[in-house]
Amino acid sequence: MDISYIINQLGEDRHEYFNAIAPPIMQTSNFAFDTVTDMRKAFEDEMSTYLYSRGLNPTVDILRKKLAALDGAEDCLVFNNGAAATYAAVMANVKSGDHIVSVEHPYSWTRHLFDQILTRFGITTTYIDGRDIRNFERAILPHTSLIYLESPTSWYFELQDIEAVAELARAEGIITVIDNSYCTPLYQRPLDMGIDIAMQTATKYIGGHSDTLGGVLSGTAEMMRKIFLSEYMCIGSGIQPFNAWLLLRGLRTLPARLERISRTTRTIYEYLKEHPKVESVIYPFDPEFDQYELAKKQMKEAPGLISVYTTLETPGEIEQFCDNLKHFKMAVSWGGHESLIIPKLATMKAEDFDPSNKDHRMLRIYVGLEEAEYLIEDLDKM
Ligand SMILES: *Cc1c(COP(=O)(O)O)cnc(C)c1O
Repeated sequence: MDISYIINQLGEDRHEYFNAIAPPIMQTSNFAFDTVTDMRKAFEDEMSTYLYSRGLNPTVDILRKKLAALDGAEDCLVFNNGAAATYAAVMANVKSGDHIVSVEHPYSWTRHLFDQILTRFGITTTYIDGRDIRNFERAILPHTSLIYLESPTSWYFELQDIEAVAELARAEGIITVIDNSYCTPLYQRPLDMGIDIAMQTATKYIGGHSDTLGGVLSGTAEMMRKIFLSEYMCIGSGIQPFNAWLLLRGLRTLPARLERISRTTRTIYEYLKEHPKVESVIYPFDPEFDQYELAKKQMKEAPGLISVYTTLETPGEIEQFCDNLKHFKMAVSWGGHESLIIPKLATMKAEDFDPSNKDHRMLRIYVGLEEAEYLIEDLDKM
């Protein structure tokens, strides 16, 4: 399906709302029925009728159709945030006593789910270095029911060979879930590579303006129905109509923003690589990146995020550099219009800083929609 069609047309029935270009925010909790027969039909299948907005809502549905198509999926579900989407995808596919194989650096709250919540139900997780397919083969146990991927991962940009993992999992009857937030379906298509469930946070690139949260799961109609009729309805973490409307608005400019961000990121990476105070840079499309070939094979572009090892050796120097930034904001998250930075040392106690541990000298940079020169002016201060 044409991406321009998906973004501008798919799922929108403008005759239903005065030919308005922007869809209405259907801010309603419930829907009325003319007859008992109609109401009975809705009770029989809440996934195909508007009954109550914890389930289906027309504004959310427009977004849902577009996001499913972007992923090349039969269906998708839109959640209030990415963490809720992950929670539902995992919970729907494990039971007490099961085993999970996960990449060793998943998103922090995903790790919390595995370590703190699922362990209460006797579900254990083996973390592996996902860069080597043999680690998956070795970690799978007879009771492994789920493999959790994130490619590339945050901060370290570790990739997994998505096709190879999907093939292995299929052969063993194991469900695969991938966090595809970094690439979005525009730059990486996990379902086409055989993955069962593609998750992404919509808070980042889909929203794109740092004004709403959202999360997405895509997969077969059967899998989405299974999650909808259980976790989605039960947790009540479906997205609200207004937030869905903001995500629809963000979606209109997603390809343009990603293109621009990818271009500027490349410029910033080239600048940082030559920076006298930079020891090294992690960026998947760097020809020296150890998984460069795989990155080029399964990703169309490398947008937004770069990790930097600075040679600044004291917490004082790093803090001064970050405190003095005028154009980069110091904040978590990414995917918005504004460029951001997080120094690793903000995530640890200052007295634990060890200059010989290069991770402590790490900066995570997100490149937004500003001009490259404007950002470089700031980075020149390092
Ligand atoms: C932000 C993020 C999430 C969580 O998404 P929320 O919308 O904040 O809940 C999950 N995975 C990755 C890679 C993220 O960056």
